[in-house]
Amino acid sequence: KKITIAIDGFSSTGKSTVAKQLAKELGYVYVDTGAMYRAVTLYALRKKYISEINFDTAALINDLPIIKLKFIFNPEVGFGEMYLNDEKVEKEIRQMEVSQYVSKVAAVPQVREMLVAQQQEMGREKGIVMDGRDIGTVVFPDAELKIFMTASAQERAQRRYKELSERGEEVTYKEVLENVEGRDLLDTTRKDSPLVKAEDAKEIDNSHLTLAGQFERILELYHE
Ligand code: C5P
Repeated sequence: KKITIAIDGFSSTGKSTVAKQLAKELGYVYVDTGAMYRAVTLYALRKKYISEINFDTAALINDLPIIKLKFIFNPEVGFGEMYLNDEKVEKEIRQMEVSQYVSKVAAVPQVREMLVAQQQEMGREKGIVMDGRDIGTVVFPDAELKIFMTASAQERAQRRYKELSERGEEVTYKEVLENVEGRDLLDTTRKDSPLVKAEDAKEIDNSHLTLAGQFERILELYHE
């Protein structure tokens, strides 16, 4: 019987890697909710609604009805890629600039309200693995399996730094660590659905786990 699987946790804990792997293994649909917050952030950046010195939340809220987000499954990569108003933005939304502002955009209640509603719609049919920050607490409080992933900030920054450098982005480890810690702080302290572990979520600290070890642990939980 198909179920709903919620995977939450801090930035760069490798949630999406295991979530994708799990969806593939089970034949489930994978939804990366972070990509949705990132796409809205990219939109705000392009419109210059947000910058280092200002954030015009009213303008962004006003535009929400015309921001169309869609995942289109790409068999070549094995998951749904993010489209913002019919433009594929999968690469753009992973850039450091988007990471720098996304937690601010994600703190706007109207943005969350819109995205949570879309996520609930996508998960109306069971057989879904969704990763984010509030999936087990807000989006699907009744999810049959909830996983909360953690790892030390240093470990997460190290992994992210490696990933970005390999992609040719010019960042330093220190910048990445600051970004990771900054997002943790904003995500855990925002008024509207802050990042917390759902009471019934199973925690996995993967600071010292390999990918395979992590995946094995999740499959165990799935079969429990
Ligand atoms: O998962 P990812 O790191 O791509 O998410 C980017 C940001 O989007 C997070 O730091 C968080 O601020 C926000 N987010 C959120 N709720 C979610 C998913 C992501 O607030 N369900």
